[in-house]
Amino acid sequence: MEESARRAGALVRLAGSGLIVPPSCACCGEPAARSEPVRSPGRRYELIVGYCEDCSGHVGGERARKLAGGMGSMLLGLGLAFALPLSPKPLPPVALAALTLLGALVPIGVVALWPRRPGRGHAAEGPAVRAVSEDQLLAANDRWAAEFARSNDLQRERATFRESRISLGMLPGPVLAPLLAVLAFGTTSPVVRVLNLSDERLRIEVDGTHVGDVDPSSVESPAAGVELRISVGRHELVARGPAGQVIERTPVTIQSGRTHLFAPASTGYCFWLETSGYGRTQAPAITREPLEGTSRFWSLPENLGGWFLPAPAAALAEARLTGGVVTVLRQAPCEP
Ligand SMILES: [Zn+2]
Ligand SMILES: [Zn+2]
Repeated sequence: MEESARRAGALVRLAGSGLIVPPSCACCGEPAARSEPVRSPGRRYELIVGYCEDCSGHVGGERARKLAGGMGSMLLGLGLAFALPLSPKPLPPVALAALTLLGALVPIGVVALWPRRPGRGHAAEGPAVRAVSEDQLLAANDRWAAEFARSNDLQRERATFRESRISLGMLPGPVLAPLLAVLAFGTTSPVVRVLNLSDERLRIEVDGTHVGDVDPSSVESPAAGVELRISVGRHELVARGPAGQVIERTPVTIQSGRTHLFAPASTGYCFWLETSGYGRTQAPAITREPLEGTSRFWSLPENLGGWFLPAPAAALAEARLTGGVVTVLRQAPCEP
């Protein structure tokens, strides 16, 4: 009876200023030896609440537990954000973000859900007084609340005191980690443009995992093909026809800081890098560098100015000003 009576807290409506705070411990009622500030969410008021030596200890312990949860969440989240994008089985960005978020939530869940009760004679585990709004204070110890209300002539009503098990310091992990995972994915998984020059739909596999389908596009078009993101390193690319037959199977090395072209069943088509260069004074000089080799996979410069179209006018205008170059990838049937 005594125990539950102590845990049933009270809600006090605040009014006026210069409030008198009881000299007793807000948790157990013993004489206070230390103090903790309690601020309203909008900082309209701040009370200095007293705690005894003993209670000050368990309030600090609870704060340390929350901090540990926040740190654990950050560390686990960051670890996953940088490790998952490098996994040999490529995951889509949404799955990456979801997994990282889940990982970052585990330490917080452990801290928040771990069962603990206030010790005998104590009203709370963490702070025993909490500001719930700009003019309401929730206290765990009803006797403390009664004294506080009496000495300030305030209204008090019985209310259940629920400890908040989550703190703001726990937020950075779950918020930042998924973002970083997607960012890390972008930098560790370069773009592979897959072009289908056959006349049937192709199914693309990376290391035996189906990652997408590509519709045919025989005419040179900037929108042709699909862009995949594949992690840096060695992989096997396979293109299969509608009946599952292998059209192309090739071992590849995905390089960091490059874009890549995979064009299965593209015999008869030629690809070349077309570079428009400007000196400060002369007219543009166009150089063409054919993509060679028997494999239908190529590593290309990262900063391509365009795919399957002549250098765009805007990019050319900028290159003219800076004396730079614009490189685009072009495609056409090979000449006999
Ligand atoms: Zn105490
Ligand atoms: Zn206590």
